[in-house]
Amino acid sequence: MGREAILMTFSAKTIMIKNTNIVDAANSRIIENQNVIVDGSHIKEISGTTPGSEVFHVVDGEKSYLMPGIADLHVHLNWDGGPDPRQAVLQEGAKVAVLRAYRHALDHLKMGVTTLLDVGSMDDLAIDLASAIRRNVVFGPHLYATGRIICIIGGHGAGLGYEISGRDDALRATRTLIKRGADMIKIAATSGAYGSFGAEKLEAIQLDPEEILTITSEARKYGIKVTAHALNLEGIRNCVDNGVSIIQHGAFLDKSTARLMAQKGVFLVPTLLVYRKLAEGAPGVMPEAVSKAREVVRHHREAFLNALEAGVRIAGGTDVYSPNFGPHPRIIDEAITMGEYGMPNSEVIRAITLNASEALGTHRTRGRVEEGMEADLVLLRGNPLEDLNNLKKVERVFLDGVEIDPHTTRDPLTL
Ligand SMILES: [Zn+2]
Repeated sequence: MGREAILMTFSAKTIMIKNTNIVDAANSRIIENQNVIVDGSHIKEISGTTPGSEVFHVVDGEKSYLMPGIADLHVHLNWDGGPDPRQAVLQEGAKVAVLRAYRHALDHLKMGVTTLLDVGSMDDLAIDLASAIRRNVVFGPHLYATGRIICIIGGHGAGLGYEISGRDDALRATRTLIKRGADMIKIAATSGAYGSFGAEKLEAIQLDPEEILTITSEARKYGIKVTAHALNLEGIRNCVDNGVSIIQHGAFLDKSTARLMAQKGVFLVPTLLVYRKLAEGAPGVMPEAVSKAREVVRHHREAFLNALEAGVRIAGGTDVYSPNFGPHPRIIDEAITMGEYGMPNSEVIRAITLNASEALGTHRTRGRVEEGMEADLVLLRGNPLEDLNNLKKVERVFLDGVEIDPHTTRDPLTL
């Protein structure tokens, strides 16, 4: 059933989330005992008194905390989180992979993740899934997708990515992905931990500055942002100097480049936990990937703190379903890790809500619990500003005003 049909069934009249405590992460505070009126897909009214409007359905919010829907800006929905996800999707093919991707999108939604940015899928299948959700073919969270990663021949992402060499190729790849419907362009500016080709050395840059500039300049014409996989410092620098809007990983970020990122408003999606998990190793996971991940982990915390100190806008993302890194809700574990690494809880909540919306450019309608905003909401049985572990205590999720009970065995699909 499509979203419109569900809205007609469940939200034609107003919902009241009664007597709840609103998490206002931007101001590090809780606004206690509020009635939140959801009318259709939007928040109509928030007040401490009984509303005038006729209420169709009341959700008891007592002793609960209401926060904006969570966003994860680094997912690979088509992967399986097993020891070698790339090999797995190549074997099963894109048709099975798109079904898995959809399954994963719904799993996220039930845990309070209402917005996802997929930054690399085979055959651009995440673009098709995003389109199917937007056109109400299937019900699912807000999904943005880059399609294939643009990388150098044999570089990070090769095999499933769009492999290029030179500026002409860079232009062709960018235009092809935009024509395909990409919401954002993903590039691999450096090697990575997980990759089976010879060129994957941690210290190596991959796309060169001219290729990066070609891609970002072309994307800008369409108002499309570029996000980059960038681990080493030279690669991060190439991105920041050449128009990239969102750095993924940023494991070797130094203080001066962090200051430059802050000045230019470039976002960082640190994905701290995925490398720690990969560094643990597991049967079937490539040993080279494990040793490279260990090297990343040795630097990542310092890089993250450099970003924090410089005032870089940090948004939440996980790299979920990459090797040895399933299942959901990894963004919650990532949030807890950001907290452990020294980020104040209110900033962590901001990173996985409003900052993520700002990075996507959707902050005017999503990322805060305020009148007029879209009703993407999570009701928690505990205050996440006090303890980030409370992010796991999900009682209800609302997507565009559609109520989802995470405890039901029924799938939102079968509503
Ligand atoms: Zn990734």
